[in-house]
Amino acid sequence: MPETILVIGGGPAGLEAARSIATIGGRAILVERRPVLGGTPDESNYAALTPRMGSAQDALDILRAGVVDPDIDVRVNTTVTGCSGTVGDFAVTLISPTGETTESVGSIIVATGFQHFDPGRETQMYGYYEHADVITLPDAEKMLKEHHFVRPSNGEAPRNVAFIQCVGSRDRRLGNEYCSKVCCGVASKEAIEIRRLLPDCKVYIFYIDMRMYGYWENEIYWPAQEQYNVTYIRGIVTEIVAKDGRLLMKGEDTTMGRPLEVLMDVIVLSVGMEPSRGTRDVAGILGIAQNKYGFIALPGEPMDVVSTSVPGIFVAGAAAGPKDLEDTIGMAGAAAVRAVGAVRGGARAGAAAAR
Ligand SMILES: Cc1cc2nc3c(=O)[nH]c(=O)nc-3n(C[C@H](O)[C@H](O)[C@H](O)COP(=O)(O)OP(=O)(O)OC[C@H]3O[C@@H](n4cnc5c(N)ncnc54)[C@H](O)[C@@H]3O)c2cc1C
Ligand code: SF4
Repeated sequence: MPETILVIGGGPAGLEAARSIATIGGRAILVERRPVLGGTPDESNYAALTPRMGSAQDALDILRAGVVDPDIDVRVNTTVTGCSGTVGDFAVTLISPTGETTESVGSIIVATGFQHFDPGRETQMYGYYEHADVITLPDAEKMLKEHHFVRPSNGEAPRNVAFIQCVGSRDRRLGNEYCSKVCCGVASKEAIEIRRLLPDCKVYIFYIDMRMYGYWENEIYWPAQEQYNVTYIRGIVTEIVAKDGRLLMKGEDTTMGRPLEVLMDVIVLSVGMEPSRGTRDVAGILGIAQNKYGFIALPGEPMDVVSTSVPGIFVAGAAAGPKDLEDTIGMAGAAAVRAVGAVRGGARAGAAAAR
């Protein structure tokens, strides 16, 4: 009965799941398709984290240090290409630049995460690929990480910056009716950072309604308004066009019920979360059900938030839907306990049968 657990994905969820497995005396193989651990926050250059503005780099360093453990076999540039067997006795095929191996594992945790919504999709009218100064939250993160927030078109400091919320989320035409949970907080955090860097720059957030997650209301939203004078406007943006070297935003101020036309220097699209390619691929390889959006389905929710449709295969983090880091880390710990339990429960059952 193999006691090893395969963790697929080396982002925050996979790192915490592997660390938790080792903490409770299990063994893990952690596979990550990229050459480095850290997941989307690393790949997309997150700077400061919502809500407390702590460094994303420091947070990732802590998570990476947690998997330096003799009971965790970390394999980067590696992914899974095949799986057979059942709980307690899965045979998984792993592929890396050095070749293909088959490993025997008792249970599996899927931690393959999310990807940012592509704002250039044809239903979108924001001109992301047309206008250099229309950027996304992760594009802004990258500049903020370097403490250098400029108009990409000319390298000058912007005088007016607007965020547009719910890009790729809460959109029925697109089929993404869900809320991505973090983008209101992340936009407000970036707005604060821009105001700190460029005190003369006016920052506006155009929203359908602001959805601040838990304590983020007090930790981010009110400080953004009261201390940093970020202006929140309830409105819908229908079009962005170039005008006089700037960007003309057209839409409607829905509080005042009147048309909206304002000139901006930089427009930041608050893109939401979609299942990553890896999440979709791994679901197919493992034969686990996905929900209508492509995230891993949780048949037992709300009471069981880590079991997939296949016994012995669990899920953690944003692979199961939009999540902030706090929920990701909590879910990873729960998945680890259940994955170790599945292996040990199987081992106990096997021992009882042999007596
Ligand atoms: C713009 C933006 C900013 C955010 N900022 C914050 C913030 O400030 N604070 C906060 O709490 N949360 C924030 N979040 C949310 C945070 O990014 C997620 O909660 C977190 O990244 C989820 O971690 P994860 O490990 O589940 O997924 P990911 O971070 O996506 O990691 C998944 C990992 O799996 C790997 N992988 C995928 N497929 C395979 C495969 N087939 N084989 C092997 N490996 C694979 C990927 O390469 C990746 O390393 C933000 C989200 C967005 C969209
Ligand atoms: S968190 Fe805010 S911006 Fe993101 S989808 Fe939800 S309401 Fe829209």
